[in-house]
Amino acid sequence: MEMLAAADALRRVSLELGFSACGVADAAAAQGDTLRDWLASGAHAGMGWMESHLEARLNPELLLPGVKRVVMLSYEYSREDARREQGRIARYAQGQDYHRLLAPKLADLDELLQVFGGVQRGFADSGPVSERFFAQQAGLGWLGRHGLLVRPKLGSYCVLACLLTTLELPLDAPMPNRCGSCHSCEQSCPTAALADGLCDARRCLSYWTIEAKEAMPADVQAVAGDRLFGCDICQEACPWNGAVAPTLDARMLMPDTLASMPLAEFSSMSEADFERYFAGSALRRAGLDRLRERARQIEE
Ligand code: SF4
Ligand code: SF4
Repeated sequence: MEMLAAADALRRVSLELGFSACGVADAAAAQGDTLRDWLASGAHAGMGWMESHLEARLNPELLLPGVKRVVMLSYEYSREDARREQGRIARYAQGQDYHRLLAPKLADLDELLQVFGGVQRGFADSGPVSERFFAQQAGLGWLGRHGLLVRPKLGSYCVLACLLTTLELPLDAPMPNRCGSCHSCEQSCPTAALADGLCDARRCLSYWTIEAKEAMPADVQAVAGDRLFGCDICQEACPWNGAVAPTLDARMLMPDTLASMPLAEFSSMSEADFERYFAGSALRRAGLDRLRERARQIEE
């Protein structure tokens, strides 16, 4: 009974905090060989941290001894693509950095579960947790052919956070895949990065504009258009996106200063301006050098 009460309180408070969904997965759920095979193929490109923390990704016990459940939470970002005149930015990164926005909310949920005797550890895409896998296990949605979580009503435009807990909360049922015969995301990708439900980062514009340390290959650059940071093309192609427009945290929206910032300001940006403009922005992930270089490529 006490765990039912804990789960009820968790769902109620998570919605009050602005999360769009909350589900509970078994921390011991078997993840299969997909991630290992993906890494073995080299499709993670230069993201060595994916490989170095593989065991923790596959076994949450290494992150929180005694863990029983993974509480998965989704947080919406805008369906609208706020357009800058030149230099597109992926929707999830148009507003404030979600890692920072979600951390205090996870701390609140941690406190809540402590009352029930739980020990928790929270991550908002900030640690080696297979968040998409556990989100599917927790019934939030399924993994689409672009590798992202798709929800029946809300589509894929969300970020994920999780709370590992030692409490044996009641489990939610995993969500079956509903992609059916659709292959729109794969067909829409300009670099053919998607196959068999997996994304090959060596071809993906998101990787090349955000994570890569090396120079973008010429053939990828040729189809990158004015993508300054990230790429939403495969999500835009998904028929599950667009039906419902949820209430959004205004901090996830693009501020006027960024919307009106000329591309030339990126290509010549100083360290001081980078700090001033992007202290609380997900754009920091790319780093100033990459943003400057990418802006110059777009200008050429
Ligand atoms: S983010 Fe862009 S480049 Fe990457 S898989 Fe999706 S459509 Fe292709
Ligand atoms: S575009 Fe089609 S295949 Fe891709 S995630 Fe959406 S429903 Fe699935």
